[in-house]
Amino acid sequence: MYKRIQGNGSITIPVMLRRSLGIKPRDTMEIISQGDGSIVIRPCTVECVFCGGTENVAVRKGVRMCLACYLKINVRKEDRNGREETGN
Ligand SMILES: [Zn+2]
Repeated sequence: MYKRIQGNGSITIPVMLRRSLGIKPRDTMEIISQGDGSIVIRPCTVECVFCGGTENVAVRKGVRMCLACYLKINVRKEDRNGREETGN
């Protein structure tokens, strides 16, 4: 199979391949140079940087994290603020 690189550097993954691998528009792909002139392009599972989970992961406050970790961190901040206010 041969594909040409477009003027903007993009390359189209053939629809049959996308369908068979379950790749959808806006999915994240990992691009790895093998060092021997070959390149591997594979679906990238977006993981939470804190727990490694893959459910409800989004960039929150500049960090890729799941909703559960985001809520935990925010609850901790509220706890800390609460303690600071009542600790004196
Ligand atoms: Zn997480």
